[in-house]
Amino acid sequence: MSEEKSLNFIEEIIENDLNAGKYKTLITRFPPEPNGYLHIGHAKAICLNFGLTKKYGGYTNLRFDDTNPVTEKTEYVDSQQEDIKWLGFQWENELYTSDYFDTLYDYAVKLITDGLAYVDNGTAEEIAVLKGTPTELGKDSPYRNRSPKENLELFALMKSGSLEDGSCILRAKIDMLSTNMLMRDPIIYRIKHASHHRTGDKWCIYPMYDFAHGQSDSIETITHSICTLEYVSHRELYDWFIEKLGIFPSKQYEFARLNLSYTVMSKRKLLQLVNDGVVIGWDDPRMPTISGLRRRGYTPESIREFCERIGIAKRENIIELSLLEFCVREHLNKIATRVMAVLDPIKLVITNYPEGVEEILIGENNPEAEDKGGTREIPFSNELWIEREDFMEEPAKKWFRLAPGAVVRLKHAYIVKCEGFEIGSNGHVTQINCSYIPESKSGEDTSGINVKGTIHWVSSKHAKTAEIRTYDRLFTVESPDAEEGDFKDYLNPNSMEVITKAYIEPYLLNADQDGRYQFIRKGYYTLDKTSSAGNLIFNRTVSLKDAWAKTNK
Ligand code: ATP
Ligand code: MG
Repeated sequence: MSEEKSLNFIEEIIENDLNAGKYKTLITRFPPEPNGYLHIGHAKAICLNFGLTKKYGGYTNLRFDDTNPVTEKTEYVDSQQEDIKWLGFQWENELYTSDYFDTLYDYAVKLITDGLAYVDNGTAEEIAVLKGTPTELGKDSPYRNRSPKENLELFALMKSGSLEDGSCILRAKIDMLSTNMLMRDPIIYRIKHASHHRTGDKWCIYPMYDFAHGQSDSIETITHSICTLEYVSHRELYDWFIEKLGIFPSKQYEFARLNLSYTVMSKRKLLQLVNDGVVIGWDDPRMPTISGLRRRGYTPESIREFCERIGIAKRENIIELSLLEFCVREHLNKIATRVMAVLDPIKLVITNYPEGVEEILIGENNPEAEDKGGTREIPFSNELWIEREDFMEEPAKKWFRLAPGAVVRLKHAYIVKCEGFEIGSNGHVTQINCSYIPESKSGEDTSGINVKGTIHWVSSKHAKTAEIRTYDRLFTVESPDAEEGDFKDYLNPNSMEVITKAYIEPYLLNADQDGRYQFIRKGYYTLDKTSSAGNLIFNRTVSLKDAWAKTNK
């Protein structure tokens, strides 16, 4: 592409800020909560935040937003780091909101001292009633006018551990008449007697998201704090805390989150699928998690390309899963090694090819690559496996594959003519008999015969076996979240099909975990992480063509 790509709205803001000299260095952050594995939606936020500092200079911090001790785990911290690195990004600093607990506590003390926060002993119900509704103004809490001195003592008591969960909270003293519900004296600290994955039992009070996020941004002098649209109404509060505390003025900007068709994307829901055993784990190849996509055979390049193509919007929409598949298909087409595998085998015998003779044919590994990806040896003999679907006893019109009397080319090998077939006791075709044309060998064909069809095969004597897993969409409806009832009611019962014994070229015995393969005419495949030398398992990443497309573009 030669034309200049137009800037997205966040790039425009950044260019204006940098041109106006507002900031010397652009600093962004990616702030996941370590309560699950990252998914493709996070990939969009990662590509955006890291992409901006790659483009404009500066750096991006990785900050674990770990203010909720109950749901957070070190396992998630580790997996999230692995996924970001795999996507191709490196953070400047690895930080934890929990590292700021002391500072945040001091900030709360400052607000109290300045008469801008108070301890409320109301029950959750009482507080909710006084808060009002979007159409009904709130009312002041009876505890609102406690003196700073009393509040300081009570807050210290909250921290001391002698009070029970829920017995009181610390609230910012803002405006119970605000049209923005979040400004009606929001909760900033709650008591929670729970062990934290990093701070252990040091704290029994934890800051709320709104009191932690902006301040953490400010502590790190984040210049552009980018989040998703559901935080638009939080921005006023974000700015209020920063102003009242007189700290570095980080600014929040919002973009539309990624929604993808035929899947769900909240960590909470994905965790349910894992816990209920619907999938085999967070990295099940059907999951929209980054680890699932990786195990399925997606490449970092294809995910980055996908994020680039969908761009940054200010309004929510649903992106077609087929676009993600298109991106991986495009990349795999460039890099995948072409091989032959027969998934539903039927025997083909070449009656005029001498029995016991073996021939080594040479196949190009990737006609799409500049160096053709090198070549490989493919053993050939008189007995082959071919796909059952490549033979028809009574061929349809325009059938260019095998049928009685028909000729086809065997990929990388010879032209064969079907001379007959055998039927087993169960009434099914068990063997196809062909003759071959010796002078039709690929690359040195002097036969002068034109054939319309080429089929793949594996020499039965040399074939190895493998398990093949084929995946389909995890849900049967576009937006499982938007349907009536539980999202799990819409699971696709056929989202995984297993072929326990497929025949593959011996070359694939050397397949490695990072390898990407095109099984000719079948799709793109990669080794599953549980595959071993004695028990090869391949995952289908994506089909060769979009089987779901209504029209082929
Ligand atoms: P989830 O509900 O899946 O847990 P979250 O927003 O609670 O999502 P966080 O771990 O808090 O997850 O998110 C880290 C960052 O990733 C945030 O800045 C968030 O806005 C962003 N993010 C999360 N989901 C998406 C999405 N679907 N599209 C774009 N960005 C997202
Ligand atoms: Mg969250």
